[in-house]
Amino acid sequence: RVPVTALLQRPADAIVRPQAAAHPKIPLPGDLFAPGRRNSRGVEFGERAALHQLMTNVKAETADLKPVADATPDQANAAVAAARAGFAAWTRTPAGTRAAALEQAAHLLESRSAHFIALLQAEGGKTLDDALSELREAADFCRYYAAQGRKLFGSETAMPGPTGESNALAMRGRGVFIAISPWNFPLAIFLGQVTAALMAGNSVVAKPAEQTPRIAREAVALLHEAGIPRSALHLVTGDGKIGAMLTAHPDIAGVVFTGSTEVARSINRTLAAKDGPIVPLIAETGGINAMIADATALPEQVADDVVTSAFRSAGQRCSALRLLFVQEDVADRMIEMIAGAARELKIGDPSDVATHIGPVIDMEAKQRLDAHIARMKSEARLHFAGDAPEGCFVAPHIFELGEAGQLTEEVFGPILHVVRYRAENLERVLQVIERTGYGLTLGIHSRIDDTIEAIIDRAEIGNIYVNRNMIGAVVGVQPFGGNGLSGTGPKAGGPHYLARFATEQTVTINT
Ligand code: NAP
Repeated sequence: RVPVTALLQRPADAIVRPQAAAHPKIPLPGDLFAPGRRNSRGVEFGERAALHQLMTNVKAETADLKPVADATPDQANAAVAAARAGFAAWTRTPAGTRAAALEQAAHLLESRSAHFIALLQAEGGKTLDDALSELREAADFCRYYAAQGRKLFGSETAMPGPTGESNALAMRGRGVFIAISPWNFPLAIFLGQVTAALMAGNSVVAKPAEQTPRIAREAVALLHEAGIPRSALHLVTGDGKIGAMLTAHPDIAGVVFTGSTEVARSINRTLAAKDGPIVPLIAETGGINAMIADATALPEQVADDVVTSAFRSAGQRCSALRLLFVQEDVADRMIEMIAGAARELKIGDPSDVATHIGPVIDMEAKQRLDAHIARMKSEARLHFAGDAPEGCFVAPHIFELGEAGQLTEEVFGPILHVVRYRAENLERVLQVIERTGYGLTLGIHSRIDDTIEAIIDRAEIGNIYVNRNMIGAVVGVQPFGGNGLSGTGPKAGGPHYLARFATEQTVTINT
């Protein structure tokens, strides 16, 4: 491996300077709805008039939200029994039929976008921008897994063999999959897990986060309407206790989980302690995600990308930036620009189209984040604190740490921690990132190709973003998922994801 520090001592002419035309100024979040502004999926927002019409529809939809009751333990057991009974028929349903149901689900989602955006705003506190991109992601998951599923499950793979013998490899569903999802992407992650498990020929019992059961209920109803049999897909609402009960059930064949590392570990222990068949766990968890910005980076671009990565969605993304390493030589200017860009953010009512940052998910989350801010105020240097309205809001904060080790756990909110590093200590920065044990996302802002390559070579991180923001992975474009404490390594929205939900069967026939 090439020591990164050696590369930084290269002569100045080795630094690749960007051409002005190749790096147009990116609008700051203040221009979110300016004409021509594209969201992270490259889709241009509509005209303001169309946007206002959508918001009017969304507000009308919000009036009609009904509460959802928690399931009882008996209902949870009944759901597993029913899913087990439904497995045989579903797994024998041709892959093309399963895929067609997912495609129909994508179509229904899009045709009811105002309704789902209303739900995402009312229950998940999403801004319009976030709700729109989540809706697109949810539809993308349905279509992508349908397309992948047709390829993987549509036919057997003929294998070579001697004359007089035929060999074939087939992918099959495992049985009942428990799908446990978090509140921060209550539609996209919920549907991503469920549709992947279903496409692979499993029946599913889905347990959404206790904060977002209505979105889950509507999503399940939509899948049933789209053609997924009721016997193949069941919803169990409730808190972590009911989730723990489902994972301990003797009749399950797999668990797909997205959430905190702590809960993933607890599920892993439950599965390992079981008698009977070994039950696989697909876990996608959190991260202490870092970005490295060196002295060759474009300050305007860094400021824009840092603000997007750290503060968008109130920092409630697993991919969000938590720890920014800035090269000492440019640190003062960089921090000032980031604080300047953060100052432009409007925090408040997510149903207001001008809002960039909505609420955090609940008061418990706010109290946790407020406690962290209070601790940082005594242990670190405060560079910026935004204004937040009364209620469940947390304003963006920027703290400078004396050393990265002061941040010991994932802080799931709009709080950025900055650490300065000297060019000759880049190797140490990489060691610090490695020592966190997480491996979800990493950002690099540099114009030195060799530095970028050396960091990529060294980092055991699932998703690396170079000279751009580090959130908003696109289904089928940036397969997403981490290593180490960040998960068991599956890549949601990637070509190998569905295989993790299946078993393989080889049949050899002597002809
Ligand atoms: P969480 O507290 O771990 O909860 C996730 C889900 O697990 C919820 O449905 C929860 O139910 C359930 N649960 C809690 N305890 C359980 C147990 N002992 N057994 C079985 N299920 C249990 O996570 P969260 O607060 O909802 O979500 C935020 C976390 O998710 C962050 O760490 C974030 O980084 C991570 N995340 C990761 C990804 C990724 O792709 N890597 C994506 C999004 C989020 P209740 O909510 O009812 O307690």
